[in-house]
Amino acid sequence: MDDTLKSKLLFQWKSASAVMDEAETEAADTYCRGYIDFLNTAKTERETVREAVTMAESRGFVPWEHGKALAPGDKVYLNQRGKALILCAAGKRPLGEGISIAAAHVDSPRLDLKQRPLYEEAGAAFFDTHYYGMVKAYQWTGIPLALHGYVALKDGQGLNICIGEERGDPVLLIADLLPHLAKKQMERPGKELVAAEDLDVIAGLRFCPGEDGDGAVKLNILRILHAQYGITEGDLISAELSVVPAFPARDLGLDRSMVGGYGQDDKVCVYPSLTALFSLTEPPEYTACAVLVDKEETGSLGMTGMGSHFFENFIGDIAEAAGEKAPRVLHNSLCISADVNTAFYHLYAEMFDPYAEARLNHGVVLFRYWGKGGKDHTNDAQAETVAAVRKILDDAGILWQTGEGGRVDAEDSGTLSKFFANLDIPSIDLGVPILSMHSPFEAAAKTDIYMAHRAFTAFFKRT
Ligand SMILES: [Zn+2]
Repeated sequence: MDDTLKSKLLFQWKSASAVMDEAETEAADTYCRGYIDFLNTAKTERETVREAVTMAESRGFVPWEHGKALAPGDKVYLNQRGKALILCAAGKRPLGEGISIAAAHVDSPRLDLKQRPLYEEAGAAFFDTHYYGMVKAYQWTGIPLALHGYVALKDGQGLNICIGEERGDPVLLIADLLPHLAKKQMERPGKELVAAEDLDVIAGLRFCPGEDGDGAVKLNILRILHAQYGITEGDLISAELSVVPAFPARDLGLDRSMVGGYGQDDKVCVYPSLTALFSLTEPPEYTACAVLVDKEETGSLGMTGMGSHFFENFIGDIAEAAGEKAPRVLHNSLCISADVNTAFYHLYAEMFDPYAEARLNHGVVLFRYWGKGGKDHTNDAQAETVAAVRKILDDAGILWQTGEGGRVDAEDSGTLSKFFANLDIPSIDLGVPILSMHSPFEAAAKTDIYMAHRAFTAFFKRT
């Protein structure tokens, strides 16, 4: 087969290193500096929404006013209870012709503090946790942890908490058993190496001044929290406090080809969705909409998850204001469910399809379905949707690939795609491949992250 026939007939994986010139690779590196900063300010869903709002407002986005019809060029956002966000750049076409949606999730796996988290045992104070999303418990021991979150007070005020991120801040730890005593532990199956109930965070050792005996260490921790934030043990009950890795995101690899950091699932798609939207200097043809939602890691239930009606209601509201019918807007729209995919890893090759998995540094991943047991609970995107997105990507010269997310029946996950498809919106997953997914330190290739930005930009500019 000669080369022309090869390039005409075959769909081949291409390494970014083979197709991107030096200038474009440098553009990817520059782009990822902003992304690393974003990761370091946005570890929880509330922080991500806050940061996205700050970025949006500095680019002229304003809160959407109920009942006000959007005019081409309008830039509005709807903050859904501080934990989800819809941002819209109004396009030239009437809403009834549909909109372009890029949807990513702002929550990441972590350890939440229980409702009454603080206890004292063996001379130390601990925070008891309940994990959020799929985690391998053993990965959370022996690493520096930070405390992030929000406390809602009875008087209606709220407090943001963040301890462990500044240079001089203390950090927290979940202790593991020393190897010398771990013979029995190491014989247990991986899932039982560290029990989820044993993910307790050590908070301190010292007595509260003037106190001694039982409870003096716990009291001292409450004294410190009170001095810093004015809160009491009762206030912890109406709080959303989480423990997340304290280390910052940074360049990864001696060639600095990757970004390493916590919470890249799915901030690695959140950030490009935002930058793509912000890059629209003129009103797009179709109204461009970035939807950032919470709760994806726990099944999308709840007011701020995609299982909630808030997105549908928002579309209903903007449609009504424009004199359109919401079902028509939804039917004619196109959605990219911007979520991560699994990158092939040779040391676990037996878990992957050897011919069809996504690879790092080979572009954004277009994928139609998840689900095991015969594609259960998935949106198996239909061929026309795939073709429409393929065309957008190819016309814009985007480096892209497909993925399988593991061998048939091996994986157990899902994305936002099905929620949009259930609203009668053609929807397909397009996102960045990730290595070490759901671990405290995930890896993504800078070129893939940059390609996500370019892909979402091309999508928002579709004609
Ligand atoms: Zn995930």
